[in-house]
Amino acid sequence: MAMARPFIFKACLLSAETANLLKKNRMDPKPFSEKDQFFSTKAEKVTTNGAANISLQEWQGWGAISPLPAMVIEVIQDLKLLEKDIGAHLDFGGNHGKLQGDFKVQEDKKHRAKFQSLGNSEKKLQFFSARQIACRLLGSRGYLCQKCWLPMEDCMCSRLLPFPLWHRIRFWLYMHPKDFLRQNNTGKLLCQVFGTHAATLCLFGISELEEIMWSALNFSGRRNVWCLYPNKNAMPMSVQDTFIQNSSRDHQSEQNSVLGDERINFILIDGTWSNSQAMFKRLKMGDKKKEKRKEI
Ligand SMILES: [Zn+2]
Repeated sequence: MAMARPFIFKACLLSAETANLLKKNRMDPKPFSEKDQFFSTKAEKVTTNGAANISLQEWQGWGAISPLPAMVIEVIQDLKLLEKDIGAHLDFGGNHGKLQGDFKVQEDKKHRAKFQSLGNSEKKLQFFSARQIACRLLGSRGYLCQKCWLPMEDCMCSRLLPFPLWHRIRFWLYMHPKDFLRQNNTGKLLCQVFGTHAATLCLFGISELEEIMWSALNFSGRRNVWCLYPNKNAMPMSVQDTFIQNSSRDHQSEQNSVLGDERINFILIDGTWSNSQAMFKRLKMGDKKKEKRKEI
């Protein structure tokens, strides 16, 4: 399945609102994660007092559609064990659920040792992502609004109107864990406005979410998958162009395009420029693996 076709939206079949959202993200010279803080910057302290379990409802409340990731559960259990061992509570500060204080010092040693002990880069990535996600989940609890990811006092949910996305389009917001629950992240607006099944959050390195995305992309087929990624050699194309291109390949495709329910998938990479390179590489690697499996 092809993932690496560079794609730039003209958004002719998209609503004006969507076009504005996408245009804003495309034109901004800084990646989402490097933008200035627009919102409350005051340091907030969150101490869990031992209540560190995450329920499925809580996990999905943040916008994820998968079951609770096994490795995130494992990391949370390790954090709880460490709490017991050293007699200090999990302590979070700043705006992004970062550990702080004595607990941070001890946890740093522990997680670095675990990271080093892992046998391969895939396991290391999964552990890195799960730890980032676990800390953000625990640190943001009761502080950020689950829907808009802003501090409760800045919640803008009442100002956002849900808007139906055309049923033949699905967005995949492929997000770096460092952007998860980041209050100045704008990509998540897509999920909030269009709904999580039209604009689906997929976190880099979280296998439960990545599998859902790959399965859907595989089902849709190579010609219906596009990745939005900057490339100076990319040809600007519209959604309309992609339909014409697909339907002109053969008569069957044309019939499907007109009559069928084929969905076009757009992968939107959400991370800093340097992080997004690794994410794009992973998408290309995943694509190659699928191709190899097909050949066997
Ligand atoms: Zn809100």
